[in-house]
Amino acid sequence: MSYQLNKKVRDLEPYEPISGNYPIRLDANESFLEIPPEVKADMLSRISLLHLNRYPDPLAAGVCERAGRYLGVKPELITVGNGSDELLTLLTQVMMSKGEKMICTSPDFSMYQCYGYLAEVECIEFKKDASFRINVDALIDLIQTEGARTVIFSNPCNPTGVGLPRAEVIRLIEGVPECLVVVDEAYMEFWDQSVLDCVEKYDNLMVLKTCSKSFRMAGIRCGLAIANRTLTNALRAAKSPYNVNSMTQAAAETLFDYPAELDAATQAVIHSRDALYDSVRALAEKFPKKLSLLPTNANFVYIKMPAGQAKRIFEAMKAEGVIVRCMGDYLRITCGTEHENAEVVRLLEVFL
Ligand SMILES: *Cc1c(COP(=O)(O)O)cnc(C)c1O
Repeated sequence: MSYQLNKKVRDLEPYEPISGNYPIRLDANESFLEIPPEVKADMLSRISLLHLNRYPDPLAAGVCERAGRYLGVKPELITVGNGSDELLTLLTQVMMSKGEKMICTSPDFSMYQCYGYLAEVECIEFKKDASFRINVDALIDLIQTEGARTVIFSNPCNPTGVGLPRAEVIRLIEGVPECLVVVDEAYMEFWDQSVLDCVEKYDNLMVLKTCSKSFRMAGIRCGLAIANRTLTNALRAAKSPYNVNSMTQAAAETLFDYPAELDAATQAVIHSRDALYDSVRALAEKFPKKLSLLPTNANFVYIKMPAGQAKRIFEAMKAEGVIVRCMGDYLRITCGTEHENAEVVRLLEVFL
């Protein structure tokens, strides 16, 4: 007899990002802006003062304090993770038991189902309507019929860019008092319908944030879960003690010490997003049979194409050194610098 892998992981494949050197990368929804040199220098000097022979602060108190100030939430309601991906893994394990039901909407961020599967949770799909909106009444119905313990969705949504207005999110939270509502606000800097201020009002709400998008720090891996005391205590108790390394903590602390920089970076991305949307919209008017798109609340556009075309254009762009994301009959394009936007729109028009 030889060693047999656990059945649930036998057919899993490691995540394979598009590797290689491409001059223009608009595939991962990162910020096209680098951290300003003076902020980076401050970061590096703080990192150089760290005692790396010592373990990091388990609660990342410095990050909680500064992020809390920037976001307007109490530091004791924040759990810091090694990217929000770590928090997603953690919360599916902590808030759910094997066999319990978790509702994921579709289309949405695919990692929710992946982590649910590993936690041996039953993921139930809730389909959005043709314009990618969540019908809250239908979702409440499904949660109640299934007796679901958790519902999770990104708002605004990755990959569609469509957001669920705050009033609707609140109606959902109030409509399912026995179900945990996890709102992943990874892109909420680019919209204004956050429910972050409601975490103490409801005992079934958790909000996730990340430093990877608007805050320009995908490389340092820092995510935040914000919820009331009870939920926060559970997350803090169950996480591994030293989950966020001290260099990441120092970098994130520095970042939040420059709130005006953060605001400016967000505004620059919104500006680029609007410009990219307008250009692609103009193409959609010129070639109505070849592409269509909806207004976006995030930092990317999500473009529908006739069968087979998205893949063809994705490959053609890749050959030109421009990487976007192809998802079935859709292309998802992250907004970039003025030059990058112009180039991707130019190629899109050529290949159409
Ligand atoms: C990018 C993204 C995240 C962020 O993940 P990190 O692990 O913090 O980099 C979380 N949720 C969604 C929907 C995302 O698109």
